[in-house]
Amino acid sequence: MNVIKIDHNNMVNGTGMRDVIWCAGCGHNCVNCQNKEAQNPDIGTPYGEWVKEELAADLRRDEISGVTFSGGEATFPANRKDATALMKWIKENFPMKTIWVYTGYAYEQISDLEMMNYIDVLVDGPYIEELNPGRGALKWRGSRNQRVIDIKATRASGSVIWAKDFNGKYIYQNDDPLFLEDHRANNCCEK
Ligand code: SF4
Repeated sequence: MNVIKIDHNNMVNGTGMRDVIWCAGCGHNCVNCQNKEAQNPDIGTPYGEWVKEELAADLRRDEISGVTFSGGEATFPANRKDATALMKWIKENFPMKTIWVYTGYAYEQISDLEMMNYIDVLVDGPYIEELNPGRGALKWRGSRNQRVIDIKATRASGSVIWAKDFNGKYIYQNDDPLFLEDHRANNCCEK
């Protein structure tokens, strides 16, 4: 896996203040992908110990909630081995920190990957331009087909459960006008 960059103190790619790893490589080729150059697996710097060192400095801080994997995607086949090892390392060394992963696959396509043992929240599905209701209308996702999934709850229940925020409310409940409609369309619990 190549890493394009690591953002620090980022507050727009998951709950709280997070580090964001921008992974190189994605094969979904969504129309109007907002990070088209990141589809190329050869850009950036090869993954190595430098990534852990850079993350560890932040993950020791109480105010950092965790790490988000974006890109590109950690689930790109050539990235899976390194990304899984890194997620495992994060959970072993910083168990209170959460891991968010953005992927162009539907959860059902990748539910058997080892990395699911370490992921807290998966934002799944390709970006579909026609399902984007406009800038700012959706929280944490770009188009309405995408879901913000609580992986532990989903694996325990056997059906997709949407993630909740720090207050125990579903992530979209207060500020996403399309939350209830999409939530029910995905056949999740009523809330
Ligand atoms: S999944 Fe994301 S990174 Fe990949 S092509 Fe689609 S929008 Fe771009």
